[in-house]
Amino acid sequence: MNAVEKDEILRQLKHMVMNYCQTDKGRWITQLEWGKIPVELRDDLKDDVMGMYSFGKIILRCSYDARLIFSTYVHELRHRWQWVTNPITYIIGKVIRPLIERDAYRQENIADDWINNQNII
Ligand SMILES: [Zn+2]
Repeated sequence: MNAVEKDEILRQLKHMVMNYCQTDKGRWITQLEWGKIPVELRDDLKDDVMGMYSFGKIILRCSYDARLIFSTYVHELRHRWQWVTNPITYIIGKVIRPLIERDAYRQENIADDWINNQNII
């Protein structure tokens, strides 16, 4: 995927989040300066990895369909939210993974349901 295509997918993702955070389900995202969190699309993630939040940056697997990675984006934004709202739990959760993953996957599923019911872009 070239840089122009990546920019277009990122634009679409941000457009989706902008709409999503105006709903009750996605309102928690407004607690973040989410537009300032760097997002990178990468072609080289390991097979089963869809995304990650690492050192203040969100990395997502490349997809030509932004809708397919939208909920992963929300999942990684949730990790940012966990870090911002409760850093202690987040740090403990890095060791006891299910502690932060259950919550992030829950938000991912809610976002997935939402995007699958949208007619945007
Ligand atoms: Zn996670």
